[in-house]
Amino acid sequence: MMRMAFLSLHSSPVGKAGSKDTGGMSTYLRGLSGALGEMGHEVDLFTRVTGPDEAEVKTLSPGVRLVSVDDGAGPLSKNELYPHLPAMVDAIKKFCRTENISFDLIFSNYWLSGCVGRELSKSWQVPHLVMFHTLGRAKNEACREESEPGLRLAEEEKLACSSDQIIVAAPLEKERIINYYSLRKDNVKVIPCGVDRQLFHPLSRPAAKEETGLTGNKVILAIGRIEPVKGYELLIRAAVLLPAEDKVKVVIVGGDVKSEIQVAHLKELAADLGISNRIIFSGLVEHQKLPLYYNAADVTVIPSYYESFGLVALESLACGTPLVAGSTGIFPELLKPYTKKTAELLTKKKSPGILLENRISSAWAEAIRICYIHHSTPLDPSVINDILATYNWRTAALSFIRLIQELHTK
Ligand code: UDP
Repeated sequence: MMRMAFLSLHSSPVGKAGSKDTGGMSTYLRGLSGALGEMGHEVDLFTRVTGPDEAEVKTLSPGVRLVSVDDGAGPLSKNELYPHLPAMVDAIKKFCRTENISFDLIFSNYWLSGCVGRELSKSWQVPHLVMFHTLGRAKNEACREESEPGLRLAEEEKLACSSDQIIVAAPLEKERIINYYSLRKDNVKVIPCGVDRQLFHPLSRPAAKEETGLTGNKVILAIGRIEPVKGYELLIRAAVLLPAEDKVKVVIVGGDVKSEIQVAHLKELAADLGISNRIIFSGLVEHQKLPLYYNAADVTVIPSYYESFGLVALESLACGTPLVAGSTGIFPELLKPYTKKTAELLTKKKSPGILLENRISSAWAEAIRICYIHHSTPLDPSVINDILATYNWRTAALSFIRLIQELHTK
Protein backbone atom coordinates (compact mmCIF):
# COMPACT_ATOMS: atom_id res chain seq x y z
CA MET A 1 0.00 0.00 0.00
CA MET A 2 1.27 3.47 -0.85
CA ARG A 3 0.33 6.87 0.47
CA MET A 4 0.30 9.56 -2.17
CA ALA A 5 -0.01 13.35 -2.23
CA PHE A 6 -1.80 14.63 -5.34
CA LEU A 7 -1.61 18.41 -5.79
CA SER A 8 -4.39 20.24 -7.60
CA LEU A 9 -4.04 23.71 -6.14
CA HIS A 10 -5.50 26.03 -8.76
CA SER A 11 -8.64 23.99 -9.31
CA SER A 12 -10.58 21.73 -6.96
CA PRO A 13 -11.08 18.12 -8.07
CA VAL A 14 -14.67 18.49 -6.92
CA GLY A 15 -15.14 21.93 -8.49
CA LYS A 16 -17.66 22.66 -11.24
CA ALA A 17 -16.29 21.13 -14.44
CA GLY A 18 -16.91 23.32 -17.46
CA SER A 19 -16.17 26.56 -15.56
CA LYS A 20 -13.20 28.75 -16.47
CA ASP A 21 -10.46 26.91 -14.57
CA THR A 22 -12.02 23.50 -13.98
CA GLY A 23 -12.42 20.75 -16.56
CA GLY A 24 -10.88 17.46 -17.56
CA MET A 25 -8.18 17.65 -14.92
CA SER A 26 -10.78 17.32 -12.16
CA THR A 27 -12.47 14.38 -13.86
CA TYR A 28 -9.01 12.83 -14.27
CA LEU A 29 -8.05 13.26 -10.62
CA ARG A 30 -11.31 11.84 -9.32
CA GLY A 31 -11.08 8.86 -11.71
CA LEU A 32 -7.45 7.99 -11.01
CA SER A 33 -7.54 8.56 -7.24
CA GLY A 34 -10.82 6.63 -6.96
CA ALA A 35 -9.28 3.60 -8.70
CA LEU A 36 -6.11 3.81 -6.58
CA GLY A 37 -8.27 3.97 -3.44
CA GLU A 38 -10.20 0.87 -4.53
CA MET A 39 -6.89 -0.95 -4.90
CA GLY A 40 -6.06 -0.21 -1.25
CA HIS A 41 -3.81 2.84 -1.67
CA GLU A 42 -4.29 6.13 0.14
CA VAL A 43 -4.49 9.39 -1.74
CA ASP A 44 -4.69 12.88 -0.31
CA LEU A 45 -5.83 15.38 -2.94
CA PHE A 46 -4.54 18.80 -1.90
CA THR A 47 -6.34 21.91 -3.08
CA ARG A 48 -6.78 25.50 -1.84
CA VAL A 49 -9.53 26.58 0.49
CA THR A 50 -12.01 28.58 -1.58
CA GLY A 51 -14.84 29.30 0.86
CA PRO A 52 -15.08 30.35 4.51
CA ASP A 53 -16.74 27.26 6.02
CA GLU A 54 -14.92 24.57 4.11
CA ALA A 55 -13.89 21.47 6.04
CA GLU A 56 -10.14 20.95 5.92
CA VAL A 57 -10.47 17.23 5.28
CA LYS A 58 -13.27 15.47 3.46
CA THR A 59 -13.41 11.78 2.44
CA LEU A 60 -14.34 11.52 -1.25
CA SER A 61 -14.26 7.74 -1.69
CA PRO A 62 -12.56 4.79 0.04
CA GLY A 63 -8.91 5.75 0.65
CA VAL A 64 -9.29 9.19 -0.99
CA ARG A 65 -9.39 12.45 0.97
CA LEU A 66 -9.75 16.02 -0.24
CA VAL A 67 -7.50 18.26 1.84
CA SER A 68 -8.22 21.98 1.49
CA VAL A 69 -5.28 23.99 2.79
CA ASP A 70 -5.47 27.65 3.70
CA ASP A 71 -2.61 29.83 2.43
CA GLY A 72 -4.29 32.91 3.88
CA ALA A 73 -4.80 34.65 0.52
CA GLY A 74 -8.56 34.03 0.10
CA PRO A 75 -10.34 33.41 -3.22
CA LEU A 76 -8.05 34.06 -6.19
CA SER A 77 -8.11 33.25 -9.89
CA LYS A 78 -5.33 31.01 -11.16
CA ASN A 79 -3.47 33.98 -12.67
CA GLU A 80 -3.04 35.47 -9.21
CA LEU A 81 -1.70 32.38 -7.46
CA TYR A 82 2.01 32.41 -8.24
CA PRO A 83 3.14 34.78 -5.44
CA HIS A 84 1.25 32.62 -2.92
CA LEU A 85 2.92 29.32 -3.81
CA PRO A 86 5.44 29.48 -0.90
CA ALA A 87 2.52 29.91 1.52
CA MET A 88 0.91 26.82 0.00
CA VAL A 89 4.11 24.83 0.54
CA ASP A 90 4.07 25.90 4.20
CA ALA A 91 0.36 25.13 4.63
CA ILE A 92 0.78 21.60 3.23
CA LYS A 93 3.85 20.95 5.39
CA LYS A 94 1.98 22.18 8.45
CA PHE A 95 -0.98 19.88 7.71
CA CYS A 96 1.33 16.88 7.38
CA ARG A 97 3.14 17.71 10.62
CA THR A 98 -0.15 18.07 12.50
CA GLU A 99 -1.47 14.79 11.08
CA ASN A 100 1.92 13.15 11.49
CA ILE A 101 1.80 11.70 7.97
CA SER A 102 4.34 11.28 5.20
CA PHE A 103 3.99 10.34 1.54
CA ASP A 104 5.70 7.94 -0.86
CA LEU A 105 5.39 10.37 -3.75
CA ILE A 106 4.06 13.70 -4.91
CA PHE A 107 2.00 13.96 -8.07
CA SER A 108 1.56 17.57 -9.22
CA ASN A 109 -1.12 18.59 -11.65
CA TYR A 110 -0.68 21.75 -13.77
CA TRP A 111 2.40 23.93 -13.58
CA LEU A 112 1.37 25.92 -10.49
CA SER A 113 1.09 22.75 -8.42
CA GLY A 114 4.32 21.60 -10.05
CA CYS A 115 6.17 24.53 -8.47
CA VAL A 116 4.77 23.60 -5.04
CA GLY A 117 5.48 19.88 -5.56
CA ARG A 118 9.10 20.65 -6.49
CA GLU A 119 9.67 22.32 -3.11
CA LEU A 120 7.89 19.59 -1.15
CA SER A 121 9.81 16.88 -2.97
CA LYS A 122 13.11 18.55 -2.00
CA SER A 123 12.07 18.71 1.67
CA TRP A 124 10.56 15.25 1.87
CA GLN A 125 13.05 13.51 -0.44
CA VAL A 126 10.34 11.64 -2.35
CA PRO A 127 9.81 11.31 -6.14
CA HIS A 128 8.04 14.14 -7.91
CA LEU A 129 5.73 13.29 -10.80
CA VAL A 130 4.21 16.05 -12.90
CA MET A 131 1.31 16.19 -15.32
CA PHE A 132 0.88 19.52 -17.09
CA HIS A 133 -2.58 18.75 -18.54
CA THR A 134 -1.90 21.48 -21.10
CA LEU A 135 1.33 23.26 -21.96
CA GLY A 136 1.37 27.05 -22.22
CA ARG A 137 3.70 26.93 -25.19
CA ALA A 138 1.47 24.47 -27.05
CA LYS A 139 -1.62 26.60 -26.39
CA ASN A 140 0.09 29.74 -27.65
CA GLU A 141 1.43 28.01 -30.73
CA ALA A 142 -1.86 26.34 -31.59
CA CYS A 143 -4.18 29.31 -31.15
CA ARG A 144 -3.38 32.95 -31.92
CA GLU A 145 -5.89 34.27 -29.38
CA GLU A 146 -4.26 32.49 -26.45
CA SER A 147 -1.49 34.33 -24.60
CA GLU A 148 -0.16 32.22 -21.77
CA PRO A 149 2.46 34.18 -19.83
CA GLY A 150 6.22 33.74 -20.20
CA LEU A 151 6.43 32.81 -16.51
CA ARG A 152 4.28 29.72 -17.14
CA LEU A 153 6.34 28.75 -20.17
CA ALA A 154 9.60 29.10 -18.22
CA GLU A 155 8.33 27.14 -15.20
CA GLU A 156 6.98 24.37 -17.41
CA GLU A 157 10.38 24.01 -19.04
CA LYS A 158 12.13 23.92 -15.64
CA LEU A 159 9.68 21.33 -14.33
CA ALA A 160 9.92 19.18 -17.45
CA CYS A 161 13.70 19.08 -17.09
CA SER A 162 13.89 18.56 -13.32
CA SER A 163 10.99 16.31 -12.24
CA ASP A 164 11.49 12.61 -11.70
CA GLN A 165 8.77 11.75 -14.20
CA ILE A 166 6.39 13.51 -16.55
CA ILE A 167 3.02 11.90 -17.13
CA VAL A 168 0.92 12.61 -20.21
CA ALA A 169 -2.37 11.09 -21.32
CA ALA A 170 -1.76 10.79 -25.06
CA PRO A 171 1.13 9.71 -27.34
CA LEU A 172 0.98 13.01 -29.27
CA GLU A 173 1.61 14.91 -26.05
CA LYS A 174 4.59 12.70 -25.23
CA GLU A 175 6.12 13.47 -28.61
CA ARG A 176 5.50 17.17 -28.11
CA ILE A 177 7.10 17.34 -24.66
CA ILE A 178 10.14 15.36 -25.75
CA ASN A 179 10.62 17.68 -28.72
CA TYR A 180 10.04 20.89 -26.78
CA TYR A 181 12.46 20.11 -23.97
CA SER A 182 14.81 17.53 -25.53
CA LEU A 183 13.90 14.91 -22.92
CA ARG A 184 14.75 11.23 -22.92
CA LYS A 185 11.85 9.01 -23.99
CA ASP A 186 11.66 7.25 -20.63
CA ASN A 187 11.26 10.58 -18.80
CA VAL A 188 7.74 10.81 -20.19
CA LYS A 189 5.16 8.11 -19.61
CA VAL A 190 1.77 7.87 -21.33
CA ILE A 191 -1.06 6.91 -18.97
CA PRO A 192 -4.34 7.32 -20.86
CA CYS A 193 -7.48 8.52 -19.10
CA GLY A 194 -10.45 6.32 -18.34
CA VAL A 195 -14.16 6.92 -18.44
CA ASP A 196 -16.83 6.07 -15.90
CA ARG A 197 -19.03 3.68 -17.86
CA GLN A 198 -21.51 3.33 -15.02
CA LEU A 199 -22.31 6.99 -15.53
CA PHE A 200 -21.76 7.28 -19.30
CA HIS A 201 -23.73 4.64 -21.24
CA PRO A 202 -26.31 4.50 -24.03
CA LEU A 203 -29.90 5.53 -23.22
CA SER A 204 -32.97 5.85 -25.40
CA ARG A 205 -32.25 8.54 -28.02
CA PRO A 206 -35.85 9.73 -28.40
CA ALA A 207 -36.32 9.95 -24.61
CA ALA A 208 -33.07 11.90 -24.20
CA LYS A 209 -34.08 14.30 -27.00
CA GLU A 210 -37.46 14.81 -25.46
CA GLU A 211 -36.03 15.48 -22.02
CA THR A 212 -33.63 18.09 -23.41
CA GLY A 213 -36.31 19.71 -25.58
CA LEU A 214 -34.59 18.66 -28.82
CA THR A 215 -37.16 16.32 -30.38
CA GLY A 216 -37.25 16.62 -34.17
CA ASN A 217 -33.74 18.08 -34.42
CA LYS A 218 -30.41 16.72 -35.56
CA VAL A 219 -28.31 17.50 -32.52
CA ILE A 220 -24.65 18.47 -32.75
CA LEU A 221 -23.03 18.59 -29.34
CA ALA A 222 -19.91 20.34 -28.07
CA ILE A 223 -18.90 20.14 -24.40
CA GLY A 224 -16.11 21.86 -22.52
CA ARG A 225 -14.72 25.01 -21.01
CA ILE A 226 -15.32 28.01 -23.27
CA GLU A 227 -11.96 29.40 -24.24
CA PRO A 228 -10.29 30.35 -27.54
CA VAL A 229 -8.23 27.15 -27.74
CA LYS A 230 -11.47 25.13 -27.95
CA GLY A 231 -11.96 26.54 -31.47
CA TYR A 232 -15.76 26.81 -31.41
CA GLU A 233 -15.81 29.34 -34.28
CA LEU A 234 -15.05 26.48 -36.64
CA LEU A 235 -18.11 24.58 -35.42
CA ILE A 236 -20.32 27.64 -35.93
CA ARG A 237 -18.90 28.24 -39.42
CA ALA A 238 -19.52 24.59 -40.29
CA ALA A 239 -23.08 24.76 -38.95
CA VAL A 240 -23.92 27.54 -41.44
CA LEU A 241 -23.23 25.13 -44.28
CA LEU A 242 -25.71 22.46 -43.17
CA PRO A 243 -29.01 22.27 -45.08
CA ALA A 244 -32.05 23.86 -43.39
CA GLU A 245 -34.13 20.70 -43.88
CA ASP A 246 -31.83 18.82 -41.48
CA LYS A 247 -33.24 20.96 -38.64
CA VAL A 248 -29.88 21.16 -36.94
CA LYS A 249 -29.32 22.41 -33.40
CA VAL A 250 -25.79 22.96 -32.18
CA VAL A 251 -25.73 22.58 -28.40
CA ILE A 252 -22.68 24.06 -26.69
CA VAL A 253 -22.38 22.96 -23.05
CA GLY A 254 -19.97 24.63 -20.61
CA GLY A 255 -18.83 28.05 -19.47
CA ASP A 256 -19.64 30.11 -16.40
CA VAL A 257 -19.73 33.86 -15.65
CA LYS A 258 -16.01 34.08 -16.30
CA SER A 259 -16.59 32.85 -19.85
CA GLU A 260 -19.12 35.59 -20.70
CA ILE A 261 -16.86 37.51 -23.06
CA GLN A 262 -16.00 34.42 -25.05
CA VAL A 263 -19.64 33.31 -25.21
CA ALA A 264 -20.71 36.80 -26.35
CA HIS A 265 -18.10 36.63 -29.11
CA LEU A 266 -19.45 33.27 -30.33
CA LYS A 267 -23.04 34.53 -30.19
CA GLU A 268 -22.05 37.55 -32.25
CA LEU A 269 -20.42 35.32 -34.84
CA ALA A 270 -23.56 33.16 -35.06
CA ALA A 271 -25.72 36.28 -35.42
CA ASP A 272 -23.44 37.71 -38.15
CA LEU A 273 -23.73 34.43 -40.03
CA GLY A 274 -27.52 34.43 -39.58
CA ILE A 275 -27.73 31.18 -37.60
CA SER A 276 -28.44 32.33 -34.03
CA ASN A 277 -31.52 30.10 -34.03
CA ARG A 278 -29.36 27.03 -34.65
CA ILE A 279 -27.04 27.52 -31.69
CA ILE A 280 -27.97 26.83 -28.07
CA PHE A 281 -25.60 27.81 -25.26
CA SER A 282 -26.62 25.60 -22.34
CA GLY A 283 -24.03 26.96 -19.90
CA LEU A 284 -22.50 24.68 -17.36
CA VAL A 285 -24.20 21.31 -16.92
CA GLU A 286 -23.56 19.17 -13.86
CA HIS A 287 -21.25 16.27 -14.77
CA GLN A 288 -23.81 13.69 -13.56
CA LYS A 289 -26.39 15.08 -15.99
CA LEU A 290 -24.16 15.01 -19.08
CA PRO A 291 -25.12 11.46 -20.19
CA LEU A 292 -28.51 12.88 -21.14
CA TYR A 293 -26.88 15.40 -23.47
CA TYR A 294 -24.54 12.88 -25.08
CA ASN A 295 -27.54 10.60 -25.64
CA ALA A 296 -29.65 13.36 -27.14
CA ALA A 297 -26.83 14.10 -29.59
CA ASP A 298 -26.42 12.62 -33.07
CA VAL A 299 -22.78 13.61 -33.14
CA THR A 300 -20.28 15.20 -30.75
CA VAL A 301 -17.87 17.67 -32.32
CA ILE A 302 -14.49 18.64 -30.85
CA PRO A 303 -13.05 21.50 -32.93
CA SER A 304 -10.20 22.31 -30.48
CA TYR A 305 -6.93 23.70 -31.78
CA TYR A 306 -5.23 21.76 -29.01
CA GLU A 307 -6.17 19.17 -26.40
CA SER A 308 -3.74 17.24 -24.24
CA PHE A 309 -6.24 14.37 -24.13
CA GLY A 310 -9.94 15.26 -24.63
CA LEU A 311 -12.07 13.36 -22.11
CA VAL A 312 -15.25 14.45 -23.85
CA ALA A 313 -14.38 12.02 -26.65
CA LEU A 314 -14.45 8.99 -24.31
CA GLU A 315 -17.64 10.17 -22.61
CA SER A 316 -19.36 10.56 -25.96
CA LEU A 317 -18.27 7.15 -27.26
CA ALA A 318 -19.27 5.49 -23.98
CA CYS A 319 -22.78 6.83 -24.67
CA GLY A 320 -22.65 5.47 -28.24
CA THR A 321 -22.46 8.88 -29.91
CA PRO A 322 -19.95 9.25 -32.77
CA LEU A 323 -17.34 11.97 -32.91
CA VAL A 324 -15.95 14.48 -35.33
CA ALA A 325 -12.64 15.80 -34.02
CA GLY A 326 -9.37 17.35 -35.13
CA SER A 327 -5.94 15.83 -35.07
CA THR A 328 -4.95 16.59 -31.47
CA GLY A 329 -5.01 14.90 -28.06
CA ILE A 330 -6.15 11.29 -28.08
CA PHE A 331 -8.33 11.69 -31.18
CA PRO A 332 -5.89 10.19 -33.73
CA GLU A 333 -5.86 7.05 -31.55
CA LEU A 334 -9.66 6.79 -31.66
CA LEU A 335 -10.63 7.97 -35.13
CA LYS A 336 -9.56 7.73 -38.77
CA PRO A 337 -9.80 10.30 -41.54
CA TYR A 338 -12.78 10.12 -43.87
CA THR A 339 -12.37 7.59 -46.67
CA LYS A 340 -14.70 5.28 -48.57
CA LYS A 341 -14.00 2.59 -45.96
CA THR A 342 -14.79 4.85 -42.96
CA ALA A 343 -17.98 5.93 -44.70
CA GLU A 344 -19.03 2.32 -45.16
CA LEU A 345 -18.32 1.50 -41.51
CA LEU A 346 -20.22 4.58 -40.42
CA THR A 347 -23.35 3.50 -42.23
CA LYS A 348 -23.15 0.22 -40.28
CA LYS A 349 -22.59 2.13 -37.01
CA LYS A 350 -19.22 0.43 -36.73
CA SER A 351 -17.01 3.50 -36.97
CA PRO A 352 -16.65 5.81 -33.97
CA GLY A 353 -16.54 8.88 -36.21
CA ILE A 354 -14.27 10.99 -38.37
CA LEU A 355 -10.86 12.59 -37.82
CA LEU A 356 -10.27 15.90 -39.59
CA GLU A 357 -6.72 16.92 -40.38
CA ASN A 358 -7.60 20.43 -41.49
CA ARG A 359 -9.72 23.31 -40.22
CA ILE A 360 -11.76 23.87 -43.39
CA SER A 361 -15.38 24.51 -42.38
CA SER A 362 -16.86 22.78 -45.46
CA ALA A 363 -14.91 19.58 -44.66
CA TRP A 364 -16.14 19.70 -41.06
CA ALA A 365 -19.73 20.32 -42.21
CA GLU A 366 -19.53 17.31 -44.52
CA ALA A 367 -18.12 15.04 -41.80
CA ILE A 368 -20.70 16.21 -39.26
CA ARG A 369 -23.52 15.62 -41.72
CA ILE A 370 -22.30 12.13 -42.60
CA CYS A 371 -22.33 11.24 -38.90
CA TYR A 372 -25.76 12.57 -38.06
CA ILE A 373 -27.39 11.19 -41.20
CA HIS A 374 -26.34 7.68 -40.19
CA HIS A 375 -27.00 7.99 -36.54
CA SER A 376 -30.52 7.55 -35.27
CA THR A 377 -29.44 4.78 -32.90
CA PRO A 378 -26.24 4.46 -30.82
CA LEU A 379 -23.02 2.95 -32.18
CA ASP A 380 -22.74 -0.83 -32.19
CA PRO A 381 -21.93 -1.88 -28.57
CA SER A 382 -19.06 -4.14 -29.70
CA VAL A 383 -17.40 -1.11 -31.33
CA ILE A 384 -17.75 0.92 -28.14
CA ASN A 385 -16.36 -1.94 -26.04
CA ASP A 386 -13.39 -2.52 -28.37
CA ILE A 387 -12.41 1.12 -28.41
CA LEU A 388 -12.89 1.75 -24.72
CA ALA A 389 -11.21 -1.47 -23.53
CA THR A 390 -7.93 0.34 -22.84
CA TYR A 391 -9.47 3.49 -21.43
CA ASN A 392 -10.49 2.76 -17.89
CA TRP A 393 -9.37 4.12 -14.55
CA ARG A 394 -8.29 0.76 -13.16
CA THR A 395 -5.84 0.28 -16.03
CA ALA A 396 -4.62 3.86 -15.52
CA ALA A 397 -4.15 3.21 -11.78
CA LEU A 398 -2.21 -0.02 -12.45
CA SER A 399 0.15 1.80 -14.85
CA PHE A 400 0.59 4.55 -12.30
CA ILE A 401 1.58 2.07 -9.58
CA ARG A 402 3.96 0.25 -11.91
CA LEU A 403 5.62 3.54 -12.72
CA ILE A 404 6.07 4.44 -9.03
CA GLN A 405 7.56 1.03 -8.30
CA GLU A 406 10.05 1.56 -11.13
CA LEU A 407 10.95 5.00 -9.78
CA HIS A 408 11.54 3.63 -6.28
CA THR A 409 13.87 0.92 -7.56
CA LYS A 410 15.90 3.28 -9.79
N1 UDP B 1 -17.76 19.06 -18.11
C1 UDP B 1 -18.85 19.01 -17.24
N2 UDP B 1 -19.82 19.96 -17.36
C2 UDP B 1 -19.78 20.95 -18.30
C3 UDP B 1 -18.68 20.97 -19.20
C4 UDP B 1 -17.70 20.02 -19.08
O1 UDP B 1 -18.93 18.13 -16.39
O2 UDP B 1 -20.67 21.79 -18.34
C5 UDP B 1 -16.68 18.03 -18.00
C6 UDP B 1 -16.71 16.99 -19.10
O3 UDP B 1 -17.65 15.99 -18.82
C7 UDP B 1 -15.27 16.48 -19.10
C8 UDP B 1 -14.48 17.72 -18.67
O4 UDP B 1 -15.40 18.63 -18.10
O5 UDP B 1 -15.09 15.44 -18.16
C9 UDP B 1 -13.78 18.37 -19.85
O6 UDP B 1 -12.66 17.60 -20.15
P1 UDP B 1 -11.82 17.70 -21.49
O7 UDP B 1 -10.64 16.81 -21.31
O8 UDP B 1 -12.67 17.41 -22.67
O9 UDP B 1 -11.40 19.23 -21.60
P2 UDP B 1 -10.51 20.17 -20.63
O10 UDP B 1 -11.43 20.84 -19.69
O11 UDP B 1 -9.55 19.28 -19.90
O12 UDP B 1 -9.84 21.13 -21.54
